Amino acid sequence: MTRPDTDTMNAPFPDAAALEATLLDTVDKFLDRDVRPHVLALEHSDTWPAEIVERMKELGLFGAIIPEEYGGLGLGASTYARIVERISAVWMSLSGIFNSHLIMAAAVLRFGTEDQKRTWLPRFASGEIRGGLALTEPNCGTDLQAIRTTARRDGDDYVVNGTKIWISNGIHGSCFALLVKTDSEASPRHRGMSLFLAEKGPGFTASRKLEKLGYKGIDSAELVFENYRIPADRLIGLEEGRGLSHALGGLELGRINVAARGVGIARAALEDAVRYAQQRETFGQPIAQHQAIQIKLADMVTRVEAARLLVEQAARAYDAGERCDMEAGMAKLFASEAAVENSMEAMRIHGAYGYSKEMHVERYYRDAPLLAIGEGTNELQRIIIARQLLERNPA
Ligand SMILES: Cc1cc2nc3c(=O)[nH]c(=O)nc-3n(C[C@H](O)[C@H](O)[C@H](O)COP(=O)(O)OP(=O)(O)OC[C@H]3O[C@@H](n4cnc5c(N)ncnc54)[C@H](O)[C@@H]3O)c2cc1C
Repeated sequence: MTRPDTDTMNAPFPDAAALEATLLDTVDKFLDRDVRPHVLALEHSDTWPAEIVERMKELGLFGAIIPEEYGGLGLGASTYARIVERISAVWMSLSGIFNSHLIMAAAVLRFGTEDQKRTWLPRFASGEIRGGLALTEPNCGTDLQAIRTTARRDGDDYVVNGTKIWISNGIHGSCFALLVKTDSEASPRHRGMSLFLAEKGPGFTASRKLEKLGYKGIDSAELVFENYRIPADRLIGLEEGRGLSHALGGLELGRINVAARGVGIARAALEDAVRYAQQRETFGQPIAQHQAIQIKLADMVTRVEAARLLVEQAARAYDAGERCDMEAGMAKLFASEAAVENSMEAMRIHGAYGYSKEMHVERYYRDAPLLAIGEGTNELQRIIIARQLLERNPA
């Protein structure tokens, strides 16, 4: 094992446990050296972290779950989730830069033809081509079957028209898994939906960057398609009418990722709160000695541990190839709410300082609510969980 001394994640490893330990150690070093010192400045200027992204390419993060035969690291969801937790505990925005990119890659990996895999995955893995997932439209997010973007066959191409919104990496990315209607009259509606790999070019532009409460640094954009011609061989799986299931198939991993981000934020909020509660004194003793604060800390650490266990359970099921929409949904629901609650409690424990832009706590508080919305809102997660529960327990 030569890796403990290495700076990149691309060396050979003797076994899975050693590989994971080394990867996590490498990620920790990257975070301490290349990220932590710059977070406050990048966050508050809402700057896209170009140098950090270059480092993430070197580390292999853009190929984290892409198999080695296609140039990636070939990590399972469990290891991937641990990496995401660590990164999100320092700056959650970074996880968005490679996660939606990897959901796009996962769609090609699971549903693409061998030709498509060989063409696209190595370039995704190296970070040469980066991008994400373009599903949401101005009129719909949860009800994706209501999308209005169309792709009409014309010779060897399709012609795409429509608008996507809230697309992560929309400005700095160049390629997106794009959900369209190839048959607007189909019934049921999903039979008329298809998923393409769309690269920016004539007719496909990022029209504007969207301003947000949090999740700074990473770009969220509106994408506009005006008579955009896309070659027919960019249709994932070369089969029309499978787009919704192809898009949703990647969301299990996406939900595990969002849940891991929740654990990261909930843990960071806890760690900051514990540190501060031991330093700050009122009435002659550290506030950590007041029972009212101890109760908050107890609830916070319990949420972190429970959320992490749910993430591990979902990731294990995913890695075993089992159906895990219920497990991923429970992990996403619980961990994102844990992040929301812990960030609020950390702010209360910090008093006025928690409200200061000089502290990280106010960022956790702004970032956490996104986790309750993205990759399927928590309302939708509850519906998915309940349906699965009932399906697994027939009357
Ligand atoms: C920062 C950010 C980044 C994003 N990145 C991406 C991206 O990269 N790619 C992408 O495609 N999208 C992205 N999104 C969009 C995100 O996936 C959607 O916002 C989300 O799916 C919800 O859709 P919506 O906003 O249209 O809400 P709506 O679907 O309009 O829902 C509004 C409310 O109604 C509730 N609701 C809807 N239907 C039901 C129901 N049947 N039962 C009960 N309640 C219901 C919802 O839970 C929600 O509370 C991003 C969003 C944000 C904020």
